[in-house]
Amino acid sequence: MDQSVVNALNDQINFEQYSGFIYLSLALRMDELNYKGFSKWLTAHFHEELGHAQQFIEFMQKREAVPVLEDIEMKQFSDMEPLEAAKIILEHEKLVTERIYKIHDLAKQKDDYATEIFMHQFIEEQIEEEATAREIVDLFSLAQDSISARFAVDRQLAQLATK
Ligand code: MG
Repeated sequence: MDQSVVNALNDQINFEQYSGFIYLSLALRMDELNYKGFSKWLTAHFHEELGHAQQFIEFMQKREAVPVLEDIEMKQFSDMEPLEAAKIILEHEKLVTERIYKIHDLAKQKDDYATEIFMHQFIEEQIEEEATAREIVDLFSLAQDSISARFAVDRQLAQLATK
């Protein structure tokens, strides 16, 4: 594999793990506020992101590249409310999408067809990730300051997490 593609894939392993810990950190804060459903959904997503990292690891290994893990920056969200948390996720997912497109484009430039095809699943995945994040932002926006409406959203998210 071209070294620039190896580097991009390796960066993405670490970025997926970083993404995972953003979800986990937000999950801790939502649990603290008693939004158990949102916390459950966020925790499920934490595992999903680590799963993405693992997919990149295995892909690299199959192609005889050696993944290197880096330090993961831990974010604290100690004063965050659910709507803000949802907005953070949406912005973060948009960033992930940009990164995925860049890796895909790089693979294309380098005639690395295997990486190009490997990236397709993540391009598709990001459509869902952004749509779900946008939906959660909308739901908490509609709930505004109503505690009962917010907890109705929270119950909905608990169900989404078990799907
Ligand atoms: Mg991901």
